[in-house]
Amino acid sequence: MKKSIKLHQKNIDYTLKVSKRAKRMRVAIYCDGSCVVTIPRTIPQTIVEKFLIKKSKWVLDKIEYFSNFKGTYSKTGNKRDYLRYKDEALNLAEKRIKHFNQFYGYKWNKITIKNQKTRWGSCSKKGNLNFNYKIVLLPESMTDYIIVHELCHLGEFNHSRKFWNLVAKIIPNYLEIRYELKKDKVNFY
Ligand SMILES: [Zn+2]
Repeated sequence: MKKSIKLHQKNIDYTLKVSKRAKRMRVAIYCDGSCVVTIPRTIPQTIVEKFLIKKSKWVLDKIEYFSNFKGTYSKTGNKRDYLRYKDEALNLAEKRIKHFNQFYGYKWNKITIKNQKTRWGSCSKKGNLNFNYKIVLLPESMTDYIIVHELCHLGEFNHSRKFWNLVAKIIPNYLEIRYELKKDKVNFY
């Protein structure tokens, strides 16, 4: 259902989705700036509006954040953006790997930033970790998931239950984040 609401004098269009599985109301802003509110079946429209008004700062901040990447954040990537963001991406990857590895305590070989069309990250048998430069353009929770995912491959070089249990120790809601990322049809290996 397409809806619209005024938040701080701004008209915000959003999509209202009624979900049988949803246990509570939630709002998501996607990287194209679109806003989606998901609600359980029992919640009336007036509550949705109150919820959005309460969260208006967060909603507007997110939309603003993604608007900075218009044209930059593309699924295919390009050379110019790669050169522009690769150092920043490497810094971020190193920083977050060190942070999460305080927990895991793995050894890695080399971290490389790549300009890949269909991968967010990969891990080689030699322990080299590769990341797409676009990790700097994602919301923090998604970047962290990508980092933790590849880091955990240093412990489990597969996608077994054991692997996902390792991921879940740091990112308990990894399924949700993975689902959001998959919408962009960019994969992990
Ligand atoms: Zn993987």
